[in-house]
Amino acid sequence: MIGSLGNISVRKKRKTKPLVLGRAGERIYQVQIPIPFPLKTVNVYVIEDEPLTLVDTGVNSENGLKKLGTFLRSIDHDITEIKRIILTHGHLDHFGLASRISALSSAEIIIHSADKQKVKEGLYPLKQCKEVLLRNGIPLPIIEKIIEYWESNRSLWEPLHHCTLVNEDTMILFRNFTLKIIHCPGHSPGSICLFHEKEKILFSGDHIIEGIIPNPVLEIDENRYSLRSNSFIQYLNSLKKLNYLPISLILPGHGSMITDLKTIYDSYYNHFKIRQAQILSFLNEGQLTAYEISWKLFSNLSVMDTFLGVSMILGHLDFLEVQELVGFQEKGGKFFYHLKNKRPVRFNITGSTA
Ligand SMILES: [Zn+2]
Repeated sequence: MIGSLGNISVRKKRKTKPLVLGRAGERIYQVQIPIPFPLKTVNVYVIEDEPLTLVDTGVNSENGLKKLGTFLRSIDHDITEIKRIILTHGHLDHFGLASRISALSSAEIIIHSADKQKVKEGLYPLKQCKEVLLRNGIPLPIIEKIIEYWESNRSLWEPLHHCTLVNEDTMILFRNFTLKIIHCPGHSPGSICLFHEKEKILFSGDHIIEGIIPNPVLEIDENRYSLRSNSFIQYLNSLKKLNYLPISLILPGHGSMITDLKTIYDSYYNHFKIRQAQILSFLNEGQLTAYEISWKLFSNLSVMDTFLGVSMILGHLDFLEVQELVGFQEKGGKFFYHLKNKRPVRFNITGSTA
């Protein structure tokens, strides 16, 4: 956009500095969009290059749309100029506004194929989800409140019906550089990281965040006896995958950018070890459901935190089961976990950088 002074055109001097000025001339900006959740903001990235691209969007809200529009104007662009939206995963704080932005700009929307259904339907398959939560000991009135809470968030996202689907190693082309898709399931089945090989920058979505341990959110998988996928095992494998990349800067979906991946990994693995030791010590007293363990760990959970807490505990129980430290039995339609053998626990976390 060019400012005009009589018949002399002058380019406005920008006040907004990019987070990254790439060698190919691309500029990457971070915009923090407010969200009505404890994390308070989500990071949306504007990649100013050809085509003008967003990474994630925030929730569907007037406030978010306004904030993004104001930011784009500060770099001499407009929402209608966005040509492409890449979604790191199908959680509503990341994709909720994509449909409206695309309606204003005709932007192409890109998401991993494993989260295609999520952005179309938003809510979990409720019947199966109810079944899994009941099996893991959550009382029915609390499950009903969890479902009510999900439904109350319905205005925060618009369904996406026409997305371009990508998979592992798909290259997203810009004028003079590419972003490589790295499939990192765990936090959600279709979580992706985007790797800018030339600048060694990783857009990590919610796969890696500083100071927060990403939740391996419970996902339905009707092909498994447990009726759910082993999200935490997948998450650990996805962490290992990034170990081999020469990353110098991480641009996460929430919070500050990260330059020291090893410190983050060490903090994650230490946290996992502590959680698993706590879970094992509770099971040492007798068999428990995942919900009962969540009460022992956090005595006063909100409705949504009950779901996330049980998701996290089930993830660790899956890991401990693979390590042959715990087993479970079905009694009266509920899964009760027990210590498999009472030998001293020796932690050997797969993929630890330690
Ligand atoms: Zn997420």
